Amino acid sequence: MGKVYLTGAGPGDIDLLTVKALRVVREADVIIYDRLANPDILKEAKPGCEFVYVGKEDGRHTLPQDQINEVIYKKAMENESVVRLKGGDPLVFGRGGEEAKYLRERGVEFEFIPGVTSAISVPAYAGIPVTHRGVAVSFKVVTGHETPNKKHSQVDWESMRADETIIFLMGLHNLRNIAENLVKVGRPKDTPCAVISKGTTPDQKSVTGTLENIYEKVKDAQIQTPALIVVGKVVELKKDLEWIEESK
Ligand code: SAH
Repeated sequence: MGKVYLTGAGPGDIDLLTVKALRVVREADVIIYDRLANPDILKEAKPGCEFVYVGKEDGRHTLPQDQINEVIYKKAMENESVVRLKGGDPLVFGRGGEEAKYLRERGVEFEFIPGVTSAISVPAYAGIPVTHRGVAVSFKVVTGHETPNKKHSQVDWESMRADETIIFLMGLHNLRNIAENLVKVGRPKDTPCAVISKGTTPDQKSVTGTLENIYEKVKDAQIQTPALIVVGKVVELKKDLEWIEESK
């Protein structure tokens, strides 16, 4: 029986892969990877390494999670070193915890290899610090996948009235609802926000606006997934801190 490395691939820029992740990728017998993991990472694998794609798009699974769990488990029974490569960090909306639990229950050894999460690094590549002295003293990373008016939402919308930075992942399709809901719970309409698409890659593109106009602006700019939403005063720092020439 082999060992499984539940590994973060980082947000896109291959140079943001950790040294540890690169080491296990080079030693892997099998790499099971997601849509969001930069496929160039696979070029680092040794000859004969098997690649298994189990990509999913914004929560819509091409393979259901229980089948992914089973694939990882099976590969671990047949190989020494299995890398489960996931975009960003494996434990930030990455379901790495579920995969680990499945393996633990079956006696398979695993390691978590944290990755650079898009939640912080993508804003950074767009010139937005998630905290900044005197501007924001906390930040929150929230799923944007839940419809805000869903009856039994686990998302605490009321808490988002506070003047902190909020980063929504998987929220592009819900952008309008998200912006409207934040205003409803008491965030001013002119609260700055940004939507950043394909962050840290050569196709990075961002749109800035306010809760009131971000939806229209994003629609006009034809922003594509993956994209995240940053809400809060830190977005205003972008104009002074931008350091990457984005694609138009
Ligand atoms: N585990 C990942 C997040 C998985 S959820 C991490 O830690 O980064 C997938 C969501 O992450 C996408 O819907 C998008 O909101 C965000 N995301 C991931 N990579 C991104 C990128 N390069 N640019 C913008 N958003 C990204």
